[in-house]
Amino acid sequence: MMQEKSALILPTEQPEISQEQPAIHVDRVGKTFTLNDGTELSAIDEVDLKIGKGEFVALLGPSGCGKSTILRLVAALEQASKGRVSVEGREPRELSKAHRLGVAFQDHALLPWLTIEDNVALPFKVSGKPVDQARIGYLLDLVGLRGFETARPRQLSGGMRQRVSIARALVLHPDVLLLDEPFGALDAVTRRHMNVELQRIWSEERITTLLVTHAVEEALFLADRVVVMSGRPGRVIKSIDVPFARPRLPEMQRLAEFHHIADELTLALEPGGQH
Ligand code: ADP
Ligand code: MG
Repeated sequence: MMQEKSALILPTEQPEISQEQPAIHVDRVGKTFTLNDGTELSAIDEVDLKIGKGEFVALLGPSGCGKSTILRLVAALEQASKGRVSVEGREPRELSKAHRLGVAFQDHALLPWLTIEDNVALPFKVSGKPVDQARIGYLLDLVGLRGFETARPRQLSGGMRQRVSIARALVLHPDVLLLDEPFGALDAVTRRHMNVELQRIWSEERITTLLVTHAVEEALFLADRVVVMSGRPGRVIKSIDVPFARPRLPEMQRLAEFHHIADELTLALEPGGQH
């Protein structure tokens, strides 16, 4: 707030400021839930997070620290109790109404009675836009699911279904992509494979992405920046720029530097060795 004020007073800094408008801005946000017995639970407090246009940020933290709450706030699925969330300088709700948010959460399941193609086409129908068959074909190619157009979700593996969700999230060229533990339910081998796939997909679209995960390696492999949270109430305690060039290969995970940063992040996640 102070910075914004002084920037307004100094007109010479204006060009820099417009460039620096974050794609996602979580500005001193707090979220309190009222529980059934009437008590108040402060899920997150004073959370500050700025994500630049085209940046890939991974949000890391112990279970219950408020990662999903932050994503739900950005996705306009919750309202902040304190502070302000903006996406491209606008209210998340506006962006959501305009279908500018690409969301792939675990609980945003595919519709089992629709084909893969129709699942990916769903955002066109929901938003009342004409179905762009070429875009659907391009995305099915991108996520490696050409040939599965007429299959039903139950005929696909978990990893394939997750790729359908990501294709569906991207289909309307959203301003931001929000992923909440998209690979949490997958086995380790499939998960590593999906990380390589997601990096490839992201490199093609270069879309501003906020990924929630509790896996350190996944965060480091995918993100430009890793933000670490602590719990109760959730706060941002650390932000690390990931120094590895793209495209990143799985072998990168054998580098001493990778282990060094992974250790640093793991330590930040477990203050005093709490579990
Ligand atoms: P994470 O995704 O990091 O595991 P969440 O954001 O899901 O954490 O939850 C943060 C805290 O807020 C937890 O203590 C959780 O129980 C609580 N919480 C989240 N959503 C609600 C809700 N709708 N009502 C009550 N408490 C909630
Ligand atoms: Mg969660």
